[in-house]
Amino acid sequence: MPSHVSEFGLIRDIIARHAGAARTDVRLGIGDDAAVLDGGCGEEELVATMDTLVAGRHFFADLDAAALGHKALAVNLSDLAAMGATPTWGLLSLALPDAPPPGHERHWPAAWLAAFMGGLDALARRHDFALVGGDTVGTDGPLQLSITALGRVPAGRALSRRGARPGDWIWVSGTLGDAALALRLAFVERGRGPGLPLALSAAERAWLQARLERPEPQVALGRRLRDSGLAHAMADISDGLLADLGHILAASDARARVDLERLPLSAPLRRLAAADPALARQLALSEGDDYALCVVAAPALAAHLAELQDGLPPSARLTCIGEITAAGEAPGDPLADPHSLITLHADGHPVPLPARLGHEHFAAS
Ligand code: ADP
Ligand code: MG
Repeated sequence: MPSHVSEFGLIRDIIARHAGAARTDVRLGIGDDAAVLDGGCGEEELVATMDTLVAGRHFFADLDAAALGHKALAVNLSDLAAMGATPTWGLLSLALPDAPPPGHERHWPAAWLAAFMGGLDALARRHDFALVGGDTVGTDGPLQLSITALGRVPAGRALSRRGARPGDWIWVSGTLGDAALALRLAFVERGRGPGLPLALSAAERAWLQARLERPEPQVALGRRLRDSGLAHAMADISDGLLADLGHILAASDARARVDLERLPLSAPLRRLAAADPALARQLALSEGDDYALCVVAAPALAAHLAELQDGLPPSARLTCIGEITAAGEAPGDPLADPHSLITLHADGHPVPLPARLGHEHFAAS
C-alpha cells in the first residue's frame, strides 16, 4: 500500500461505494469501533468488530507467540469494550507464511500454534469468550492474524462515538503512552533508533513490555460506564488519544479542550517528560497501542468514580483530561480530520497540536 494513501480516505470510499444493501436491522454501521445489529435477539443487540495484525507492521516477527495470541484477541475485545458490549463469540483467520518466523524453524507451525492458541485461550476464558470458527491459509507474505469478535449489549444501550455534548468532561482509563514507549525501547534495543534519556529498572522495563504486548481490554469498565447512564460517547484508544478523541468529536460534531498537565502518565513516562517533554507528549498524545478507553460523560460521573472502579485494576482508573467546549454547525463526518476539533492547553494557555495526530496503519513506519 503506497504511504500516501490514507486509511481513513479508503474507509470513506468503502462507505460511499461498496457497503452493500441498506438493511433496517443495522443499528450502527461502518465508522464506529464496532457495528451494532438487531440480530433478532429481543432485548439484546449484537455488536461486531474485526481487527487484523500483520507481522512487521503491527508486531515484530519474532514476538513471543503466546503474547501475540493475547494481543490478537485483546485488540478486538477492546473495540467491543468501547461500545459497552459483553464479548461472546469469535472467528479467527490465520495466514501462515511458508517460511517460519525467527526462532520457530524446527517445529513450524505446530509449536508456534500451540503457544499462540494458549495466549488467546487464556484471555478468552477470562472473558467467557468462545472461538467458534475461522479460516487457515498459507501465504508467501508475512504472518497475518484477523479476529472477528462478536458481543452483546442491551438493545439501544450501546455507546458509540456520537453523543458528546458541550459541558461534558473527557476521561481516559489507565495511563497513556506506555505501549509507544515500549515500542521505542524495542527499536533502540534492535539498533533501529536513537537512545532515550531514560533509565529503567528491570521491573519497569518488563511492565512497559507487557503494556505493548499484552494490553488489557477494558471490558468491565466499558460495561459499567454503559450502565452508569452518564456516559454519552466512547472509543478505545488504539491509534493515539488525539486521533481517537478526534473520531468522537467528528462523529458528535463537537469541539474539545485537552489539558496537557492532566494527562495520566506512568512513572517512566513522567521521568521521560522531565528529560524530553516533546517526546513524552508525542508518545502520550499521538501514538497507538494503549487500548485505554476514552469516554465523554456528564460531569456527574466524577461523583461515581469509586463505585465504577471498585475491584478493577489500575488500568481501569479514570482521569479527567478536558472538556467538550462546543458543538459544530455541520452534521458530523465520523472520519473527518480532527485537527480543527481539538485545542490543547498547557497551564491554561493554548499550544499547537502536533502535525501527526495518530498512528495510521498504512503510514510506512
Ligand atoms: P478501530 O481502530 O476502532 O478498529 P478502524 O479505524 O480500524 O477502527 O476502522 C474505522 C471504521 O471503519 C470501523 O467501523 C471499521 O469497521 C470500518 N472499516 C475499516 N476497514 C473496513 C473495510 N475494509 N470494510 C468495511 N469497513 C471497514
Ligand atoms: Mg477502536
